[in-house]
Amino acid sequence: MAMKIPRVLVVEDEKAIAELISVNLRHHGMLAVLAEDGDSAQAAIDDVLPDVILLDWMLPGQSGLLLAKRWRADPRTKLTPILMLTARGDEPDKVAGLDAGADDYITKPFSTQELLARIRAVLRRRAPEQASDLVRIGALQLDGSTHRVSFQDQPLKLGPTEFKLLNYLMHHAERVHSRSQLLDRVWGDHVFIEERTVDVHVKRLREALGLAGAMVETVRGVGYRLTASVTPEA
Ligand code: CA
Repeated sequence: MAMKIPRVLVVEDEKAIAELISVNLRHHGMLAVLAEDGDSAQAAIDDVLPDVILLDWMLPGQSGLLLAKRWRADPRTKLTPILMLTARGDEPDKVAGLDAGADDYITKPFSTQELLARIRAVLRRRAPEQASDLVRIGALQLDGSTHRVSFQDQPLKLGPTEFKLLNYLMHHAERVHSRSQLLDRVWGDHVFIEERTVDVHVKRLREALGLAGAMVETVRGVGYRLTASVTPEA
């Protein structure tokens, strides 16, 4: 069984606001991780990748705007939704935030209901299966917009679940994913299927990938990883 608890990184230096947000998130079934500046936020991200980042605009040290730009450029956080918190109501600031890669913004003060609605909306929008960009690892290429996969420029045929699984693994390559993490991220919320289902689809994925199937590694006792370190023989 997989129950997805969204992990929300709250980057906010005003303790009272950060605490209030985290209490509200917890009451609504989310996990809140607090960081008071860019460095502690980065440390939290390095530890566990959050599902959403709530990012205050005005922070000591690096501004929220710079952090949003940096995380959007980092392959690890590229697909992580960023929701900017701003005390300003100015349109130019909102536009600058969106240009920097934020998915949405909320102007303080905001209601809990509004915050939760925005978080849920960005979570839905950024579901991994909707990622539509092109990703290439070694000679393996996946195009999210056309749903085409190729290896050494030869097209491969994948079923829809295998495609979603490969899409996720390629966007999070070189990292080990447990079966329950894959269920959460690939199959999504509110699915009640057994973890061995993942094994079945990994097996099918390897078969569909042919030589590139070796890039999908089993990490004994932990889960699976897609790696470029295995170079399939041509
Ligand atoms: Ca602040």
